[in-house]
Amino acid sequence: RGVLTLRGVGVTYPSGMCALKPADLSFTPGEFAVLLGASGAGKSTLLRSINQLVQPSTGSVQLQGAVEQGSRAARLRALRRQCAMVFQQHHLIGRQTVLSNVLLGLVGSRPSLASLWPWSKRERLLALGAIERVGLLDKAMFRADMLSGGQQQRVGIARALVQSPQVLLADEPVASLDPATAHSVLSLLHGICKNDGLTALVSLHQVDLAKTFADRIVGLRSGEVLFDVPAPDLSPDL
Ligand code: ADP
Ligand code: ADP
Repeated sequence: RGVLTLRGVGVTYPSGMCALKPADLSFTPGEFAVLLGASGAGKSTLLRSINQLVQPSTGSVQLQGAVEQGSRAARLRALRRQCAMVFQQHHLIGRQTVLSNVLLGLVGSRPSLASLWPWSKRERLLALGAIERVGLLDKAMFRADMLSGGQQQRVGIARALVQSPQVLLADEPVASLDPATAHSVLSLLHGICKNDGLTALVSLHQVDLAKTFADRIVGLRSGEVLFDVPAPDLSPDL
């Protein structure tokens, strides 16, 4: 009863680089899964193949409740809304407010992409709700570039949450943060995931953080799933 199921999903880039060998994975609601692997292991490729930022060369991705009708573009927008992404370099617009940045998460929910303005009262309330959940309500009108790295990543999380996704894909969300901040950002992400029954796929390269937060650890090396185990079963020599 997976919310997200990958069947034989593999990625070979146009360069000929096989970045992901065909993988079969299924994730349940509320599961906090960590993709663990060194740089170049294929973590980003796997996450991006789920929301089709990278087109899989083989296999299929199934999302529960996914939109089946409509144009390819409309289905893709629905998929990306349901599988919202948090990036390492959170891609915020520094000169805009926290609120404006989070509102941008709603662009894909609009019937038309024609105008970004004005935002409705409902949209602004949704965005403020997401900002509150990441503990930054008092900074909503600050420029994003006035915030610390950890706060900026929280804004990135709010921008993903505002879309009410079923699945959160977080690509090395704490790689550029110091250890204490990394811990607190993951703790926030974990709490939200458990509270909402959201499925989170979080890529990390730190074994200790994976063991602290994950329910399940999927180990990747050279584009291959090496192991897929409940976190307590992770071999101690890793
Ligand atoms: P990460 O540290 O998250 O793996 P990288 O710094 O490796 O990211 O890659 C940054 C960007 O460059 C990504 O968009 C990735 O798809 C692209 N990229 C990485 N390796 C290659 C490559 N060998 N050829 C072309 N693009 C690449
Ligand atoms: P990770 O996220 O674990 O660092 P990636 O998925 O970014 O790994 O990369 C896996 C492999 O695919 C790496 O060897 C990387 O250089 C290569 N790669 C990533 N993006 C591209 C791309 N756009 N074109 C070609 N090779 C790529």
